[in-house]
Amino acid sequence: MDCLFCKIATGEIPSTKVYEDDTVLAFNDINPEAPVHILLIPKQHITSMADITEENSAVVAHIFEVAAKIAAEKGFADGFRVVSNCGDSAGQTVKHLHFHLMAGRDFGWPAG
Ligand code: AMP
Ligand code: ZN
Repeated sequence: MDCLFCKIATGEIPSTKVYEDDTVLAFNDINPEAPVHILLIPKQHITSMADITEENSAVVAHIFEVAAKIAAEKGFADGFRVVSNCGDSAGQTVKHLHFHLMAGRDFGWPAG
């Protein structure tokens, strides 16, 4: 499968790693929309939030634990945003599940 984030997960394509364990990788977004803009991905290929099931959701729960830990470590426990774009109409450009962790500025709501 020709998947950019699978290749980042294996190290075939380099990334600036923020956190890594057996099942999750976090790395800096190449085109940051905030002073802190980190992508969290499962190492296994899941296409989008629409493909989360009872069988694979444990890694998603783990991603959220990691996101909270990273936000706290960077001093943003009181103000950060986590977003996952699912599908073309929501602006998902990479079809491997990922969560944007953004912090360091004020965010409007609702998001465009
Ligand atoms: P989305 O548009 O929600 O699918 O998010 C994809 C994100 O991946 C965008 O914010 C891109 O800036 C980011 N991105 C694309 N290629 C890379 C890369 N090689 N390294 C890090 N981030 C990337
Ligand atoms: Zn993938």
